[in-house]
Amino acid sequence: MSRWDLVDGLIESYPDLPHEVVFKEDLLRGGVNFSEDALRVASGFKPKAYFIFSFDMVPIAEMKRDENLRCPEEICLSGGARDFRRTIVSVRLNPRSPYQVTLSESGRLVLTLEGREVCGVEFQSYPEYYRRSLTNGKPITDIAPTIEWGYLLYLTVFRKCQYFGKKIECQFCDINENYRQQKRTGRSYTAVKSVDEVLEALQIIADTDSDSRAYTVTGGSVTSILDGASESDFYSRYPEAIERRFPGRWISKVVVQAQPFDAVKRFKEAGVQIYHPNYEVWDPSLFEAICSGKAQYIGRNEWIERILQAADVFGTSCVIPNFVAGIEMSMPHGFRSVDEAIESTSEGLDYFMSHGIAPRFTTWCPEPLSVLGAGNPEGAPLEYHVRLTRRWRDLHRKHGLPTPPGYGRPGIGNAVFSVSSFMDVIEPVGECETRGHAV
Ligand code: SF4
Repeated sequence: MSRWDLVDGLIESYPDLPHEVVFKEDLLRGGVNFSEDALRVASGFKPKAYFIFSFDMVPIAEMKRDENLRCPEEICLSGGARDFRRTIVSVRLNPRSPYQVTLSESGRLVLTLEGREVCGVEFQSYPEYYRRSLTNGKPITDIAPTIEWGYLLYLTVFRKCQYFGKKIECQFCDINENYRQQKRTGRSYTAVKSVDEVLEALQIIADTDSDSRAYTVTGGSVTSILDGASESDFYSRYPEAIERRFPGRWISKVVVQAQPFDAVKRFKEAGVQIYHPNYEVWDPSLFEAICSGKAQYIGRNEWIERILQAADVFGTSCVIPNFVAGIEMSMPHGFRSVDEAIESTSEGLDYFMSHGIAPRFTTWCPEPLSVLGAGNPEGAPLEYHVRLTRRWRDLHRKHGLPTPPGYGRPGIGNAVFSVSSFMDVIEPVGECETRGHAV
């Protein structure tokens, strides 16, 4: 079966999903490559900043054309014979992908699949602040890059993880390996960002930009002490300082481990509005096998309990745990059938949503520098991703939950969330407010 047949077959089977979503999920799970002409054009647009993980399907050492320095952060799909509505997709480089961004005969940027045009492509313009550096010489793309078409400032303040080593780090994660490969290339890639660096970068952005609406403070887990502080003390320093300097300027979010109740309150007091204690995978035995550090230091039941407790601090809609969609089908531990994987993950979604908490997902990128990526270079089947997106939408509707705050406007043609399609399948709303929350 050709890839076109696979994609068209799924579009036909699930006509209630936007067709753009099927292509988006396929691009996210399998990556994209760029023709030399497209890379040349991309040099005038916003480049990929490697905001936390590599999110590539090939190590930088194997990129023959310096694609890591030349490709865009995201692409916007639009127009074409199928009349694509604007769809923002994170770029995951894969030189072997059947998808290519290239120039058409008339000189337009287009996306092709197996050599046939799918739709038009746009790159995001180069933000003014991307030209700026801090007084210590570090580029702003190191300290405060943006994703989601400029909506989200991504502050990975600790670029490594203390779950270190093949046995204890999450098996899908390449944060430590990616840090090493970025340093090898000579890119400015700060392991621990100081509060002052972050504030200086944000000042430049506050002075020059009006697109960013939210920031995320995140990084690897801290199992002991980092910079003299526990995980919650270390990560809460940043929103505390940001909110003191720029009160209410952006929606504030943190992605950290599931913390005890008092630590969660500490984040709230620091000015955090949205809390992401990511649980990664629902099935108990897969959580043990894939997230062994988290299982060992905190434990799955405690993790889940802490997610529920956090709703007492932040409110249900502002606790948004992420899971990595697709790892439940990775070998050697995962489900072998799409049906089983969907049922397992749906159980977790239903559980959290019945408590008013709407998880979100990131489409798994099988990065070769991670354990699971190396062993599962093809990732999960497209059918899985398409059916999961649909199931997420249906459960979200069934429980009558609001649009998750902190992601911008929902709906196909509006959404900017680029690493999965959950925002693309929510009913579009026109305003930038939903049920009392800024989005
Ligand atoms: S906790 Fe797991 S997913 Fe998070 S940075 Fe560490 S290894 Fe990666």
